[in-house]
This record gives sequence, structure tokens and C-alpha cells, in this order.
Amino acid sequence: MLQFQEAARIKNLPPYLFARIEQLIAAKKEQGVDVISLGIGDPDLPTPDHIVAELKKEAENPANHQYPSSVGMLSYRQAVADFYKQRFGVKLNPKTEVVTLMGSKEGIAHISFCYLNSGDVILIPDPGYPVYAGGAILAGGQPYNLKVTAANGFKPNYADVPVDIAKKAKMLFINYPNNPTGATADLKFFEETVAFAKENEILVCHDLAYSEIAFDGYRPPSFLEVPGAKVVGIEFGSVSKPYNMTGWRIGWAVGHPEVVESLGRLKSNIDSGQFQAIQYAAIKGLTGSQQALEDNIAIYEQRRKIVMDGLKEMGWHLEAPKATFYVWAPVPKGYTSTSFAEDVLEKTGVVITPGNGYGDNGEGYFRISLTVATERLKEAFARLKKNLGNLEF
Ligand SMILES: *Cc1c(COP(=O)(O)O)cnc(C)c1O
Repeated sequence: MLQFQEAARIKNLPPYLFARIEQLIAAKKEQGVDVISLGIGDPDLPTPDHIVAELKKEAENPANHQYPSSVGMLSYRQAVADFYKQRFGVKLNPKTEVVTLMGSKEGIAHISFCYLNSGDVILIPDPGYPVYAGGAILAGGQPYNLKVTAANGFKPNYADVPVDIAKKAKMLFINYPNNPTGATADLKFFEETVAFAKENEILVCHDLAYSEIAFDGYRPPSFLEVPGAKVVGIEFGSVSKPYNMTGWRIGWAVGHPEVVESLGRLKSNIDSGQFQAIQYAAIKGLTGSQQALEDNIAIYEQRRKIVMDGLKEMGWHLEAPKATFYVWAPVPKGYTSTSFAEDVLEKTGVVITPGNGYGDNGEGYFRISLTVATERLKEAFARLKKNLGNLEF
């Protein structure tokens, strides 16, 4: 066997957080443990029927069997623009301000290749979705972590960014409603973000994956609702979370037309776009009945109650998240993120995500995902209450 030297950019790249967790689960299952995973944020409920039906119909049409356009069908981009108009009151030109992605994750990873030269600084929230740093590192960029804490509602305080770093930074990622913390942001925070970006000439990338997963009547805003946002940034979105379509791989980036064009040009050199039948199915999701989404939210609300009540009984004092299907909680006294996750798995067969998997500053926390069957979630909490003993905070 020849020994191949991995490229430097790959050598130090850790396996993706959930690839590790999947290995752990597999090992436990092999030992015969009935594992309940509250780890991965991946809707357990099926894609609504009318969306699946559209895929079937379009899959049979030979017109969809050839290479699609890499930026996506105009009708798909129009559906995204219509969604923005209806949902956020934001006007987008589907020809120049919308690009189709094969899931928003790839666009989030690829955008760094468009705007970072080797060594360029990018501001990344810590804790945060691991793809922001992963993409930046692959592109040769240098992440600078913005520590976000409970005291500041898990939002960066731009006044704390050292002036030389702010001046050097080329890009900034933000994400509200937030994975993993469940934090939300209002328009005032987005206005501060626009001002900071203008002042320092920074490209803002807002990840809006969870705009539709919100509770108690709360409607998360788009970054693009704020005047001037389109001048400084783009927003990523996806049908994955609202329509239980994580397996289908389709999303979008919208906003600043030159940035949208640049991402589209990069992608046209790498992929050849998403299967048109999937684009048609996503259009159905965005423009068809939203009843299934509403039903889903009601189910997540029930599960959120099970988790919040369970944690409260065990001694946690937390506010329920207003959005996302995550509950972010501090570990009890005497534990680290890892030791708590390991102890929970060992004693109960329940998988939780250690907070330090989202960045060093996530240390001391863990994340529970609501994307597991309600009965299994109840069973998980019954096991936690029975087997964890007295916890101190
Ligand atoms: C799930 C998720 C995404 C989107 O995933 P895709 O399926 O690739 O569209 C993006 N950002 C965050 C923070 C997520 O949790």
C-alpha cells in the first residue's frame, strides 16, 4: 500500500461532530444497549405527503433526467423569493439575488472559498454550528472566535471585538434562531450587525435554518428585514428543518447580488446543481399547504414541555427556548460536558450532545434535540430521573 500524505488543510480536520457520536451509538448498540439518541438534530417525522407525491411525479418526467442548471431553476428561485416576500416582507430578485444550494450546509462551507484568502480572519460565534469554522479552515481562513454567553443572550457583543481584529476580518457568521443554544435575535441586534459590518467592511452570513421552527406564536425575523442588510450580507436557508427534508439536500443563499453570483460561480465549477425533481418538491413545500408544518410545531411544543418539565424535576432552572428544536442546558456541578455526556450514556443509554463539540466556549453545557419520537423522549427522561441520582447545580 502506498502511503499518501494528506494535504495540510485536511490533516488537522477533526471528524465531523456527529460522525463521532454515531460511532459511539453504534458501539453501545453492539453491546445490546437500547440507545435513545437525543443527540442529532434531524427531524424524525416524515416529509409531508404532497411533497413526496411531487417528487414521484417529477421523477418520472424525462425532462428532469438531464443536468440541471447549477444555480437552480428560475421557478425554484422564484418560489424562494415569494416565500421571502410573504413571510418577511423582503423583496428579492430571483435572477440575481437567489442561488440554489444542495442543502444550506454546502453553501455555508463554500462561501469562505469565495471571500477568504489564506490567513484572512473570519469571525465565528463560539459555541456555534461547526460548519462555519470547518469551511473557513478548509478555505485557508483563520477563525476568530466570538465568545457568546448566557449573560448576553448568546449573541456577540460587537463592542468587545478588538479593533484590529474587526478591521482585519473579512467575514462574520451569525445564526438566529441559534443551533445549539436555541437563542433568538430581534431586529435591533441585526441593525447593530449591519452597522458593525459597514464600519469594518465585513461580509455578514446569516444562517436562518430555523426561521420556521418557533413556538408560542413567535415569528423569527430575517436579517434582510433590516435596512442595509443586503448591502453587507447574505442569508442561508433551507427546506430541511420546516418540511422534514434533511435527506433531500436543498436550500438557498439570498441577498447581496455579487456575493450570490460569486457563490453560484464557485459551485458551477464543483457541482451541477440539484436534481430538478427535488427542486419541484421543494417548491411544493414552500408554496403548498403549511398544515403539516403547523402540526409538527405542535408536536415539538409537546416534546419541549416533556424536556423542560423533566429538567425542572431534576433541579434545572431554565427558560424554554422560543425557537429551534434544541434545549441547551448547563451540566450539573462536578461535571464537564464530556464527563456528563459519558455518564448519562453509561447509566441510562441516552445520548446527549456535549456542548464543547460546538466550540471551547460550549464547555459546561449539553444539548438535547427534540427530534425523537415523543414516547422515546418520555422513556429517556424516565431513565434520567431514575438513574442519575442527586444532581447539584
Ligand atoms: C440543520 C442546519 C443547517 C441546514 O442544513 P441543510 O440540511 O444543509 O440545509 C444549517 N445551519 C444550521 C445551524 C443547522 O442546524
